[in-house]
Amino acid sequence: MPNVLLAGGAGYIGSHTAVELLESGYDVIVADNYSNSCPESIKRVEKITGKSVKSYEVDVKDVEKLSVIFEENKIDAVIHFAGLKAVGESVEKPVLYYRNNIDTTLALLECMKKYDVKNIIFSSSATVYGEENPVPYTEEMKRGTCTNPYGWTKVMMEQIFEDAAKADNEMSVVLLRYFNPIGAHESGLIGEDPQGIPNNLMPYVAQVAVGRRDHLTIFGNDYPTPDGTCRRDYIHVVDLAKGHVKAIDYVLKHKGVEVFNLGTGTPYSVTEIVETFQKANGITIKYEYGARRAGDLPESYANADKALKVLGWKTEKNLEDMCRDLWRWQSKNPMGYKG
Ligand code: NAD
Ligand code: UDP
Repeated sequence: MPNVLLAGGAGYIGSHTAVELLESGYDVIVADNYSNSCPESIKRVEKITGKSVKSYEVDVKDVEKLSVIFEENKIDAVIHFAGLKAVGESVEKPVLYYRNNIDTTLALLECMKKYDVKNIIFSSSATVYGEENPVPYTEEMKRGTCTNPYGWTKVMMEQIFEDAAKADNEMSVVLLRYFNPIGAHESGLIGEDPQGIPNNLMPYVAQVAVGRRDHLTIFGNDYPTPDGTCRRDYIHVVDLAKGHVKAIDYVLKHKGVEVFNLGTGTPYSVTEIVETFQKANGITIKYEYGARRAGDLPESYANADKALKVLGWKTEKNLEDMCRDLWRWQSKNPMGYKG
């Protein structure tokens, strides 16, 4: 079976994707510097699947060290998850974000060229639709204006991949635009383990539930949405991971660049999701309404038709599943992988 290199594969989405690839018969190699993860996640992937994963502790920006992986293994395809992703931090430290996210991409493309690897999937984001495009987003819309450096790195990296593929007609690139991945593997063994105070909604909710945070602040309830809170397209991380298996099948058989939204197509508001979490788990979440967070759009959700039509992929899990699986992970691992 083909060998897939997961750059950033120890992280939240990478570890779930590793499970689904291994269970579909692919071999998986992980390259990660553990800047936002730890080797324990790989051990858990091995526990879930009963298969072994070759892993390298490496900064993906480092072309020389990255080359060792390509030298020692025959790689058929790469999935590029390795990036910094905290929107607020990207505003504070733009150079760090541009350096890390762009250089990891360039280093991977350089190694792929040197070792004649033609297939790559990139973790892009709904954020590239920017402020101008109306919801639901469709893949042929032009990339828009982002509100922060993190978003711009995704826009720039999509452009870099398009240019690389234009210059080499043997290349096959799939750009996956993720919406809001939440939840965890149903074993409760792997999940999202943010360092410090979580930036994203659901890890914050889970930490309130487990007693690590006092209460949730809902950022704004005066948006032009049905209940005044922002609406997002939350997708179960296992559904998202399965989308990568379909995308690997696709990228290995095609040439050129293809873009897919990976979302459910159904938006939920912050209030709805907090209420669903409480109901699904029988837990009370203390919350209050606060000011809007700078840069938040009122609504973001996918038109997910293309992934169904072309990849034969659609989401299978609902919001209750997402909330239940998140809580199983958080309650079994109150301090994340540390315990
Ligand atoms: P994550 O932080 O859990 O995983 C990213 C992994 O990359 C981590 O293990 C980190 O240690 C590693 N990494 C970062 N820089 C590296 C470097 N220079 N060298 C080696 N490893 C490096 O994040 P995630 O949620 O799993 O996201 C994966 C990808 O998906 C990211 O590119 C992210 O921007 C993108 N994405 C995530 C979301 C989301 O909401 N989680 C949404 C859209 C897009
Ligand atoms: N949110 C919130 N309180 C928090 C974190 C997030 O109300 O502590 C809201 C945020 O304003 C947005 C939604 O939850 O409307 C999803 O935010 P998240 O950061 O998880 O994802 P985003 O869509 O911004 O990438």
